[in-house]
Amino acid sequence: MNLEIRLHGRGGQGGVTCAKILAALYVTLGKSVQTFGDYAGERSGAPVRAYTRVDDRPITNRNKVYRPDHLLVLDPTLLGDETVSGLAPGGLLLINTPDPPEAFRHRFGRFRIATIDATSIARKQGIGTRSVVIVNTTIAGAYARVVGLPREALDRAYASIHLERDLPAARAAFDAVSVGDSPAGQPAEAAVPPPDQSVYVLPLTRHAASAPTGLKTGAWRTQVPQYVEHLAPCNAWCPAGNDVVGFLQTLLHEGEEAAARVLSETQPLASVCGRVCPAPCMEGCSRRQYDGTVNIRELERWVGDHATVSRRAERAPGRVRRIAVVGSGPAGLAASYEIARHGHEATIFEAEQALGGVLRTGIPAYRLPRDVLEREIDGILDLGVEARCGVVLDAPGVASLSRKYDAVILATGLASLTALEVPGASLEGIEQGIRFLHDVNLADRPSLHGHVVVIGGGNTAIDCARSARRRGAERVTIAYRRTEQEMPAIREEIEEAQHEGVEFQLLRQPVAFHGNGRVAAVELAEVTLGDPDETGRRRPIVSERTSRLACDHVLLAAGQSADRRLLRLGDTIAEGRIHRHGSAPNLFVAGDFATGEGTVAHAIGDGRRAAGRALAALGEPATIFVRPNRAEAVPISGIHFDRFPLRPAAVGDRLPAAERVRSFAETNRGLPDAREAERCFSCGHCTQCDTCLVYCPEGIIDRTATGYAVDLNFCKGCGICVAECPRDAMEMTTS
Ligand code: FAD
Repeated sequence: MNLEIRLHGRGGQGGVTCAKILAALYVTLGKSVQTFGDYAGERSGAPVRAYTRVDDRPITNRNKVYRPDHLLVLDPTLLGDETVSGLAPGGLLLINTPDPPEAFRHRFGRFRIATIDATSIARKQGIGTRSVVIVNTTIAGAYARVVGLPREALDRAYASIHLERDLPAARAAFDAVSVGDSPAGQPAEAAVPPPDQSVYVLPLTRHAASAPTGLKTGAWRTQVPQYVEHLAPCNAWCPAGNDVVGFLQTLLHEGEEAAARVLSETQPLASVCGRVCPAPCMEGCSRRQYDGTVNIRELERWVGDHATVSRRAERAPGRVRRIAVVGSGPAGLAASYEIARHGHEATIFEAEQALGGVLRTGIPAYRLPRDVLEREIDGILDLGVEARCGVVLDAPGVASLSRKYDAVILATGLASLTALEVPGASLEGIEQGIRFLHDVNLADRPSLHGHVVVIGGGNTAIDCARSARRRGAERVTIAYRRTEQEMPAIREEIEEAQHEGVEFQLLRQPVAFHGNGRVAAVELAEVTLGDPDETGRRRPIVSERTSRLACDHVLLAAGQSADRRLLRLGDTIAEGRIHRHGSAPNLFVAGDFATGEGTVAHAIGDGRRAAGRALAALGEPATIFVRPNRAEAVPISGIHFDRFPLRPAAVGDRLPAAERVRSFAETNRGLPDAREAERCFSCGHCTQCDTCLVYCPEGIIDRTATGYAVDLNFCKGCGICVAECPRDAMEMTTS
């Protein structure tokens, strides 16, 4: 059942209370109800309208009633075409009048007319004063009869709202009401419909399409609604500066190619990031607090893998700048991409024989297939970026570049490896994990055997352990000095390693290696955790208690740092730029070398930032990427969870663990389709969902080709559209 009732009366007749009595009647039948009044002028005798909605389900529509099923007219002098507007043929028209229904047939014969002399009954019962008779409680009794409600419903309803005193008048009206003949073509028995077969109510959106109330705003409105874009948390959390909500919504509505164009504004490595990014955007995702974060990483991968955005850069209109970029990791690649997109020339100098930095030398192919990496690097080179591989720059080399080029960006990553200074560290069989990965990824590394112990808890350690398993190690153990919670490695990678049989010795630190020429055991001391250190993680306190772990090979993954030998003594770095003796030469820094932030997405964002800084310093038009302020993102309280059906996140298909460790084939096969994008709440971004339009009590919001238009002549500034927007894409502003 859903039913809409409108009442027309005059101030003082109790029309609004009458609407409440009707609601109370239906409450006795267990229905959901809504009722409110609408005053044209706050004075006795002025026209008043009141509304009641009845439904089997909770009522969310807060419009006024424009197409009533039942219309009650408390004062017959109000009867006119405007009063009956919206009442469908066959709809109930109940009039307070001494005349019979037939008296109204010539004007309103298309409706089912009922009449009751409520004024006389109420006067007889002494309801109101001699001059103003209050007819509400009386006419409600007539209504109950006309719509077929049982007499007991009257008793219960009047008791529930403490109107027992007026019950005799209601009962009298219940008995006295006259119901006219049905209009032509309407079955007579439908004149008094039982409540569960009430008249059909138009869908909500049709209400909004109806004419506005005609009540102009007047001078008292102080605020008007506005459609705005608020910062989505995913966007705020992305260190690369991707328009995450933008690409997800574009993917949903326009497909991969269009979504790829959105991403390509900031992201040259979508397929790469869609595989290896720790995805801070997913941490920020509002849906995380509801039924699980949207799988943004996999959707980025989907777009990167399925779209073929062809890239071509226009030459800068003025002078074309030449910028050298040292290092071809994600920071160097992103910087070059940005320079080329602005129409300038970027030349990459890379020590390795191929581009990619850690993406090629560190991250194994089972996480990042090489054809994917090649394709995305080619996309950057297609913009006209030049690459010179096998060139190791030193400080004089950098100085020479700075003379030949308009600017130089140093993006050389973390090239210094942390040595472990404990007895036995130089035994054969102990090597740096980074070198091991480099050989696994770039050279034909001979197979391992036996038990491999990996020291460390970051991405390098996990990649070493999983690669060692694939390279033939029968057993692999990771020894780490803190607990699993403190491991800096990506969480999913730790779990994957566990699935692949990698063992963990936590709260253990190596204090010596033993062996006769070649390592045969590592001595591990037990560790307890003290107060947090400068990184916020608890400081390891190494105890005297040790044990020996027999092994055949040790891989050290205890950390890396920037190799500052490219700089001169006394050089400092501030705002991404090198400062020397009070001046700032044309040297800029980017990525891990500059920030040590240690993720691909951070490196991409910083590479773009460095390119912007270099171009701006050369006087070229450029935007310097500034990471959004998370505090400004749409708060969780801005999202109406109840408007979104629960739906679990889609996850990528994975190779079974037993199959994985036999090869370097990609373990995660990605999503089967892009429907996961449908889960995006689109926080802070209008999706034209029509909620504002449906909820506007004035019915004065209209759809336009690009969104919505609010008719400000009629907007009262109530703010309901803003409060009801499910995704915080509107706000009230002073008009
Ligand atoms: P790099 O990628 O380190 O690139 C620097 C480049 O500079 C290298 O190609 C190097 O050869 C070159 N170079 C250095 N010195 C010179 C010189 N003197 N002359 C010329 N060229 C030079 N992050 C993630 O987000 N997800 C992951 O899954 C992930 N896994 C990782 C796994 C491993 C094993 C490692 C080590 C890191 C991982 N990271 C991961 C971190 C991420 O790879 C780095 O933060 C990122 O690559 C830094 O990018 P970059 O461009 O600053 O430096």
